[in-house]
Amino acid sequence: MSKVVKFGGSSLASAEQFKKVGDIIRADKSRQYVVPSAPGKRFQEDTKVTDMLYACYEQAENGKEYKKALAAITARYQEIIDGLNLSLSLNDEFKTIEKKFKEKAGKDYAASRGEYLNGIIMAAYLGYEFIDAAAVIFFNEEGNFDADKTDEVLSERLSSCGKAVIPGFYGAMPDGTVKTFSRGGSDVTGSIVAKAAMVDVYENWTDVSGFLIADPRIIQNPEGIDVITYRELRELSYMGATVLHEDAIFPVRQKGIPINIRNTNAPDDSGTWIVGSTCQKSKYVITGIAGKRGFCSVNIEKDMMNAEIGFGRKVLHAFEENGISFEHVPSGIDTMTVFVHQDEFIHKEQKVVAGLHRLAQPDAIEIESDLALIAVVGRGMKSTRGTAGRIFSALAHANVNVKMIDQGSSELNIIIGVADEDFETAIKAIYDIFVITRI
Ligand code: ASP
Repeated sequence: MSKVVKFGGSSLASAEQFKKVGDIIRADKSRQYVVPSAPGKRFQEDTKVTDMLYACYEQAENGKEYKKALAAITARYQEIIDGLNLSLSLNDEFKTIEKKFKEKAGKDYAASRGEYLNGIIMAAYLGYEFIDAAAVIFFNEEGNFDADKTDEVLSERLSSCGKAVIPGFYGAMPDGTVKTFSRGGSDVTGSIVAKAAMVDVYENWTDVSGFLIADPRIIQNPEGIDVITYRELRELSYMGATVLHEDAIFPVRQKGIPINIRNTNAPDDSGTWIVGSTCQKSKYVITGIAGKRGFCSVNIEKDMMNAEIGFGRKVLHAFEENGISFEHVPSGIDTMTVFVHQDEFIHKEQKVVAGLHRLAQPDAIEIESDLALIAVVGRGMKSTRGTAGRIFSALAHANVNVKMIDQGSSELNIIIGVADEDFETAIKAIYDIFVITRI
């Protein structure tokens, strides 16, 4: 049995948190490869070290005073080193960083130092080998992650060391310059390392005990999800549920390695398992509910639209030529509705309308704003009759008007459009019917 363990910023924000992480790693010999984030917030108003590095570098790059900002970053690490009683000095590292800042090494280089330095501390604390991610994780000329090269080099490197710390979030371009993934990218590194080492489990340690059925800002104390499939997770994250970086799913999914989301502050909780497929039924018919606000619908009407070949393409072309992506396209006999993000659409609205007239010659176009989309996701829906009926009767009882319904052909999710003002009421009604009353 072998595992990759990734720890998020809040799990490594202070020496106290580092000690919890040390206990977790030492409690299980199979926790062989450790991927740390940079130190996160110690308290609500605190600043993440990654954000401090971005700000400090910007000052240095613009020729402004940056030494105070750099000293504050140094102090964050020193506090951890002292709290762990380590005889480690990062002085030389900080000298190099300052020199590189002066040479304008780039903001990716700057931000990556958060994980790099935390990795050095973690390796010293655990007595594990330190592997610089820039030597084993690669991007191609276009700046996209180079999976083949990374797999080759990283697998080879890991095969020669039983225990190692590999900092998250960054790798190197073909010319050696440092490049980062997008924010929250240490999750991606964890997944890449898990794939290369072909471990049995990728444990992702954070500050919550896994995924919740619904957003805790809307539902008080929602229940947790024990097991979720990659596909269900993809649907929920797309609709706004966040815990894990979206791209972190792909490398491990290919190899069928499960991800276990765990809580550093409650290590006995079993957390959420993210798996390829499972015969385990979810506790409820639905696995989770997520939603997003801020949509517009553009409703296009044209008599005999269904008989006109190419009508849909012409409609979507009007959005494409304005660089607008669409979210959903429910259609009727003589109508087609395109859901778009309001903030993207608002500035280009009239251009799109003109394009629609020019390309598709519709009879009428109607625009509605301030809509929200809610996804009700669950592998259990396929084998349960009446799920849609229960959703709609719950919404009717809560006085919520349903503006759009879209059920994916996989029967894994039902997407519902409601007015923005009904968003929370709708989520509460759905949670209630499936989880609380279970009628
Ligand atoms: N430290 C980086 C960030 O704040 C990456 C990560 O934590 O995963 O985005």
